Amino acid sequence: MTDISVTKVEKLGVIPTDDQLGFGKIFTDHMFVMDYATGKGWHSPRIVPYGDFAFAPATIVFHYGQAIFEGMKAFRAKDNQIAVFRARHYLNRFNRSASHLCIPPIDVEEVRSGLFKLLELDKKWIPGKLGTSLYIRPFIISTDDYIGVKVASTYKLFIILSPVGAYYDNGFNPVSIKVEDKYVRATKGGLGQAKTPANYAMSLNAQAEAHQEGFDQVLWLDAVHRKYVEEVGTMNIFFKIKGEIITPELSGSILGGITRQTVLELAQSWGLKTAERQISIEEVYEAHAKGELEEVFGTGTAAVISPVGELSWKGQKITINNNQTGELSQKLFDYVTGVQYGTVPDEFNWMDHV
Ligand code: PMP
Repeated sequence: MTDISVTKVEKLGVIPTDDQLGFGKIFTDHMFVMDYATGKGWHSPRIVPYGDFAFAPATIVFHYGQAIFEGMKAFRAKDNQIAVFRARHYLNRFNRSASHLCIPPIDVEEVRSGLFKLLELDKKWIPGKLGTSLYIRPFIISTDDYIGVKVASTYKLFIILSPVGAYYDNGFNPVSIKVEDKYVRATKGGLGQAKTPANYAMSLNAQAEAHQEGFDQVLWLDAVHRKYVEEVGTMNIFFKIKGEIITPELSGSILGGITRQTVLELAQSWGLKTAERQISIEEVYEAHAKGELEEVFGTGTAAVISPVGELSWKGQKITINNNQTGELSQKLFDYVTGVQYGTVPDEFNWMDHV
């Protein structure tokens, strides 16, 4: 593995208090950077001061969007131990996204060491209050100075760090969701399973309209039949029907969430019945009509578990579990966050200690 050089910032930044934290606006003193060139591979891993960078206006990523990113978190446990939740899982997904975008794969172990060195250097920025964390944003952009659609031959990888506040400051707040029947997010054979900016650009119009109509989020249906449930905003979706925990299978158009996988593994270890399969929106509404839809919740790195209180499909609204957080949603949230903050033993080795 190549040595990682370190250039320290001249003047350290002011670390925010826990109350000043929001999401994604504050960044730590340093960042990790690495370059790629055809023939040379990934090279020059380094830690440098966090700061602006200059690119030519013709830089290919601005025009054709060959880029990917990740989103994961580091936590400060009660004994001051720093650990990243399932770091290798996120970095392996980074490589799966890379393959969908013709981006050369990274060496997961090399990037993980770079990340850990960066965390060690900026660890004072990791907040300690329950619910807060350090959000980690790795991303890769194509950097050829060229206007024309092609696979680039040069890339840059960055990892930046942002201390973030508690997602739930006053307890759970079940969300209200619009089932989208006009726009689509992704199609099989497209980029839906990759974490790439195009998918987020696709979601903006639908999200803006849903907000205007008073909903928090959009639930996507499959692009072909407009029938099968896919995922929500930046979360995967789960339904508890007659005791069974059902989530859409990874069909090619859905992002395989690390939290989704964690919830499936955890529920199975508790002896609960789980299924990854196609589930139509009609089936969800029918289960509700029969009184069999017990819980609906989203899963994602930011919120961990987000209970869904209301669904609206073609103007037809249903309320789930009286708009209250379900027992399973609460139990999953308590367990996963307990492991993250070190109050629940890490039986499954989810925490990767720095
Ligand atoms: N779907 C989409 C589109 C997302 O952006 C995310 C957030 N990464 C998820 C699902 C949930 O994935 P994870 O549990 O890995 O955060």
